[in-house]
Amino acid sequence: MEKVAIIGGGIVGATAAYLISKNNDYSVTLYDSGKGQATKAAAGIISPWLSKRRNKKWYTLAKDGATYIAELAKETQMNSKTYLQSGTIFTRKESADLDELESLANQRKVNALEMGAIKRVDAQEIRTLLPLVTADFQGIFISGGARIDGNRFVKHLLEISERNGVNLVHSKVELVDDQTIKDESQVKKFDLILVCAGAGINELLAPLNYEVQVHPQKGQLIELNVPAYQNDVMAPVLMPESEKDFMPIGDGRLIIGATHENTPGFDLKFTQDALDDLFASAKRIDNRLSKNDLIATRVGTRSFTDDFSPFFGWLPNNDHVLVASGLGSSGLTTGPIVAKLLVSLLESSRDYSKYQKEISNYIHMKG
Ligand SMILES: Cc1cc2nc3c(=O)[nH]c(=O)nc-3n(C[C@H](O)[C@H](O)[C@H](O)COP(=O)(O)OP(=O)(O)OC[C@H]3O[C@@H](n4cnc5c(N)ncnc54)[C@H](O)[C@@H]3O)c2cc1C
Repeated sequence: MEKVAIIGGGIVGATAAYLISKNNDYSVTLYDSGKGQATKAAAGIISPWLSKRRNKKWYTLAKDGATYIAELAKETQMNSKTYLQSGTIFTRKESADLDELESLANQRKVNALEMGAIKRVDAQEIRTLLPLVTADFQGIFISGGARIDGNRFVKHLLEISERNGVNLVHSKVELVDDQTIKDESQVKKFDLILVCAGAGINELLAPLNYEVQVHPQKGQLIELNVPAYQNDVMAPVLMPESEKDFMPIGDGRLIIGATHENTPGFDLKFTQDALDDLFASAKRIDNRLSKNDLIATRVGTRSFTDDFSPFFGWLPNNDHVLVASGLGSSGLTTGPIVAKLLVSLLESSRDYSKYQKEISNYIHMKG
């Protein structure tokens, strides 16, 4: 039986643990420090189809990622608080921009049936779907858009993994060499190590003499408790032009997010500036909201690369370490498929060039 370690219990590491735990050929240990996890802080929007990013490889990964999440939710029987296809609405101020977006939606639908129904909606129709919106918007409704709760998603997959025999260790770790891990109490040797540590990858690979082109990005969001939103369990996610995303998620909870701040390191302090910015945006959408409704704040650290593309695969010039990082602001969408592709490399070599550039674009040996 091969001994496998996974470093990182965010969406990539947790999905990888679940997938590997289905195979009896491996004994798996997952290490997670829990610090700065992007997955737990994330808003949870899964709706990549109307992105204007020109990066075709990223789009292919994100589109297939949205499809895979729906499959994974079904396969592992996630409840509706964890994964829900509630639809997404994208608004535009100008009708011409909306025409362009609608045309893009129809083109993309040809190769993305997961998008479901595409419908142009005026302010009245938006209010039928989201009764509490007071702003006048026009937009496009995509019925296949989904939202996940990153925290519950990961917990669900880790619970199944643990039942399948995965050993979960809550500890920060270091790589002693490419097969040896040192946690807070012991040193252990493995046949294979999967580094799924998000923005922590640089620090982990430094002792092996690798330099990784990944940067941390701080993301903050707020959660309000609005009794009037009590019944909006099925409400779609509103992605208003030039405003923060607006997500009623049922039980009176409303998420507003998120900020994108390129601060160095893991800065996990929630700031007043973020609160003011996020709340002002929410108020332009529902002018009855009050700061007294605030019940929670979240801060996480995304990882991003210079070309904003995720990467995954074998560490260059190494047969023991697999890596995945750089998932950026759409990593809940791409995380599970990245884990699936990464795990498939344990079985045989594959060509994933339709999803990413060569991994050597992002990681190289120093000197
Ligand atoms: C505020 C916010 C909103 C977001 N909204 C969305 C959204 O709506 N839709 C979307 O698709 N994406 C969203 N994202 C992006 C998404 O959350 C991330 O891209 C994704 O979660 C990254 O997953 P990951 O598993 O690579 O990393 P992470 O979730 O960061 O997990 C990495 C784990 O590795 C652990 N780790 C690191 N180093 C070590 C070490 N040395 N030892 C042990 N453990 C270690 C960390 O503690 C962490 O738990 C958002 C992100 C943020 C911050």
